[in-house]
Amino acid sequence: MGEHNHNHEVHSGERLIDAARDSLLSAGEQWTSMRADVFEELASHERPASAYDIADNLSAKRGKRVAPNSVYRILDLFVGNNLALRVESSNAYLANSHPGCTHDCIFLVCDECGEATHVDSDEVSKTVRGIAQDAGFATRRPIIEIRGICASCN
Ligand SMILES: [Zn+2]
Ligand SMILES: [Zn+2]
Ligand SMILES: [Zn+2]
Repeated sequence: MGEHNHNHEVHSGERLIDAARDSLLSAGEQWTSMRADVFEELASHERPASAYDIADNLSAKRGKRVAPNSVYRILDLFVGNNLALRVESSNAYLANSHPGCTHDCIFLVCDECGEATHVDSDEVSKTVRGIAQDAGFATRRPIIEIRGICASCN
């Protein structure tokens, strides 16, 4: 999926959690127990999860109410530091399987089951950013999402 002329590492499970923690720490942020819990919860979801889903599950796990607002703030911090990806059309989040490297991830969102997988294409990213630049537009973050039917629902 796209040309990677860098060391593109995709993680899952415990290794993903370690990689996420390392990324956040090297950005000078703290890996608090609350942040660790939010990340673990997010990483356990196969489909994009909302701040409300995560707050509900964490409240049950921690035995006391976790406010969606504090989950939002942590998710924002994660997105800003490349630990989580925001699927705009679902208003939900996914753990980033490559926290060590930044891409304009392309999401494939299934209209049937809600699953969102992602692919990376530096070529597409370069083209999209180029179009914006030619229009004199300073790109912050391209959002590329494809709605459709996933392979298992097809
Ligand atoms: Zn990469
Ligand atoms: Zn990606
Ligand atoms: Zn599907």
